[in-house]
Amino acid sequence: MPIRVAVIGGGAAGLCAARYLRAKPDVFQAVVYEQADQIGGTWVYTENVGKDKYGLPVHSSMYQRLRTNLPKELMMYPGLPITEGGRTSFIKHTEVLQYMNRYAWTYDLHKCIQLLTRVQSVKPIVNCNKTSWEVTVKSVKDPDATPQVNEFDAVMVCNGQYAVPSYPDIPGLETFSGKVIHSHEYRHPEDFKGQTVVLFGAGPSGRDICIDLHTFVNKIYLSHHIPSLSAVLPDNLQEVPDIQSIDKGRVVFTDGQSVEADVLMLCTGYLYDLPFLTPECEVVVDRKRISPLYKHILHTKHTSLSFIGVVWTISPFQLLACQVRFAMAALDGTMILPSRADMDADTQRDYEYRRDELKYPHHYAHKMDHLQWEYNKELLRLANVVDDDGATLPLFKELYALTRRLRAKDLVNYKKRIVETSDDLTSWQVL
Ligand code: FAD
Repeated sequence: MPIRVAVIGGGAAGLCAARYLRAKPDVFQAVVYEQADQIGGTWVYTENVGKDKYGLPVHSSMYQRLRTNLPKELMMYPGLPITEGGRTSFIKHTEVLQYMNRYAWTYDLHKCIQLLTRVQSVKPIVNCNKTSWEVTVKSVKDPDATPQVNEFDAVMVCNGQYAVPSYPDIPGLETFSGKVIHSHEYRHPEDFKGQTVVLFGAGPSGRDICIDLHTFVNKIYLSHHIPSLSAVLPDNLQEVPDIQSIDKGRVVFTDGQSVEADVLMLCTGYLYDLPFLTPECEVVVDRKRISPLYKHILHTKHTSLSFIGVVWTISPFQLLACQVRFAMAALDGTMILPSRADMDADTQRDYEYRRDELKYPHHYAHKMDHLQWEYNKELLRLANVVDDDGATLPLFKELYALTRRLRAKDLVNYKKRIVETSDDLTSWQVL
């Protein structure tokens, strides 16, 4: 009997899971539940904010003119070259979605995807030493229909991490007389024509939205604490420290300066959201840390429950492919897992290394950045995967570092650069 796997979500992670699970039909049988009416997750652009046409909270935080912040080779699943966007390197979001659809067709993934099906609850059923999973799903189109209860041997959670905004606790925020908007709801720069915007946060969304906005607005105050953002910034952008408080129309910064603003744009990130896991799953979300996860993937008590795509600051498409194969190896016995105590100890060591050596704050528990390259290799090594499928090419690390340099040099124009790679993905040049 194949191992029955429920995959929650049909975004980049869920599709990747489906692709590798379907490649072993004698071993696995996958069902992907996707609440939207199409695959793609984050990459499905919508004009809607708040609720979607089915009354569900809007999932995607995509804005209309977004181009990727990584060259397209880093947006490529192992095994399927990305040709979308022609010679352009930093491609449009529509082209990423097109690529993901091509991936789904190439590997015949639609056969196992159930669209418009929302996972409502996931509950372990412990029988002697074996855990199976009761997965309750609901039709999105027909909310009055009776929920369906199915049993699986394993669950892969692939529900994304950029759908539920995190709001900062700023004294006086409720008194702000202008418009407050989170980057999750940002769609068009035209909506802010001629206005003065305080943009809070210079992570990937904050940086990108500044560039999208700057030719439309009167002035942007970019409030952040990153030591050196970029050598070139737009003329009408002024860097300011973090926000201390708000007093009606005035935003006060930690250095005592204050400015009048029409708009406060919160680019303050997102929260992990796992509403379908019942308390019996024993998953704890402590701010930005999900526990207890071995290698940021496997629940150390219920190892047939895995989380794909929890880590961040990554080159996602290759990393997801490594995570999926690691989770599969734990399920089919290709990998013998350490004891629960050893897995927990490994997780603790990883956490302490981040805290003590890298000086990361608690909420960086799943941040990867420079750690991702060795991490990917380690996952495949532990999973006894001999053919890495092109997931760990040295080129990816080089392009990632190159992108960082291009961005640091010129935040405004780096996405216009063309990074040309050789067909065998061993070398590159910037044009
Ligand atoms: P998602 O794409 O969020 O997919 C999760 C899926 O799960 C969704 O389809 C959702 O509908 C579904 N789902 C959720 N809950 C349920 C449920 N209960 N039942 C059924 N289905 C459910 N990465 C890059 O590499 N380059 C970029 O340039 C880049 N730009 C980005 C820009 C923005 C604005 C954002 C928000 C992210 C960006 N990212 C970028 C990161 C991006 O999120 C990843 O590339 C990747 O798409 C994450 O895929 P995922 O499958 O983990 O999550």
